[in-house]
Amino acid sequence: MKRFVFLPLNRLIASLFFMLFFNVSLLQAQSVRLIYFYPTDHAAPNQQKMAECGKIAREAQSFYRQEMLDNGFGEKTFELEGIGDSITFYSVRGSRDTQHYATNRWEQIITEISDAKSEINLILVEGLEVITNTAVAMMARSCSGNKCTTDQHTFYAIVPLKTEEPVVGAAHELGHTFGLQHNRENASLMVGRRSIEGKHPKIASMHLRKNEMRWLDKHKYFNNDSSANDPPVVRKIWETKWEDEDQKGITLRIDIESNYELHQAQLMFDGTVIDSDALMGLSDNVYFHFTKYQFGSQRVDMQFIDTDGNIRYVDNVGIKEPEEVSREYVTLREKSSNHNMVVVGWASMKGGN
Ligand SMILES: [Zn+2]
Repeated sequence: MKRFVFLPLNRLIASLFFMLFFNVSLLQAQSVRLIYFYPTDHAAPNQQKMAECGKIAREAQSFYRQEMLDNGFGEKTFELEGIGDSITFYSVRGSRDTQHYATNRWEQIITEISDAKSEINLILVEGLEVITNTAVAMMARSCSGNKCTTDQHTFYAIVPLKTEEPVVGAAHELGHTFGLQHNRENASLMVGRRSIEGKHPKIASMHLRKNEMRWLDKHKYFNNDSSANDPPVVRKIWETKWEDEDQKGITLRIDIESNYELHQAQLMFDGTVIDSDALMGLSDNVYFHFTKYQFGSQRVDMQFIDTDGNIRYVDNVGIKEPEEVSREYVTLREKSSNHNMVVVGWASMKGGN
């Protein structure tokens, strides 16, 4: 059977304190929980393993801190759950052996850590290199209808320990849990498909994009803010199609309202950010323009964040490919989906997505 224990990383002597403060820290947790998951044919973690996991988490944390600092946002990064310099280390023994997870992987692991999960979880998995030729890191989040907000849902960054650069995997997948989506910039941490062959870039060679840092600047986990308020509301999505000799295109106008100062809007095609814009005030609108050729038949998502860090994710907006000449705005219906679990992003460390 599965079991879960948690141990302080640096100071075993502090374990009693962790037991005592466990419930208290849960109430105020705006920190990432580190979870180690191992199949039954692997040993329970020793001090060396805990140190290895802690180092990966710390390096991912440092990457964000340094990027934010270097770009004028101050020394901001997410917190790791723990006390002082110690990271609380949750260890979950899987119910089955490595071979079992070859066919029952991510969702199985998420199910098995359910007793240990927090809001945002970094799960370092032992042993998966045996069953995957391509090492994969993945993030999934649960949603209800078209509402996927960081206030109410559980986020998982899952990284096999034996990938070539687990720090890159951890930082990238954690990026997803903070609301960052893919981009197409090769040197970026959040690139969807990295075109560097035969080489695994180190975390030191990567960077965050400006719109990503601006997003994180207001994120609850980067401000240690546990307040949960209503996320921005999309009042209306307007669509205008146009066509001339040079260009076919579409312009979306999105009207947004919020109880708190609005901050940023992002437009995604197939999970890749193709445009972002600043927002201001309690109600604002944003225009996104793209051509027919950019659009194709891709899935369109949007997300909005206010200065209080509340995120509204609009899933699978139904946009028709522009065909006719039209100068009139038409109202689009927001399609809601009935899935409970959306795989939002995944990353292969060997040249895939
Ligand atoms: Zn990804």
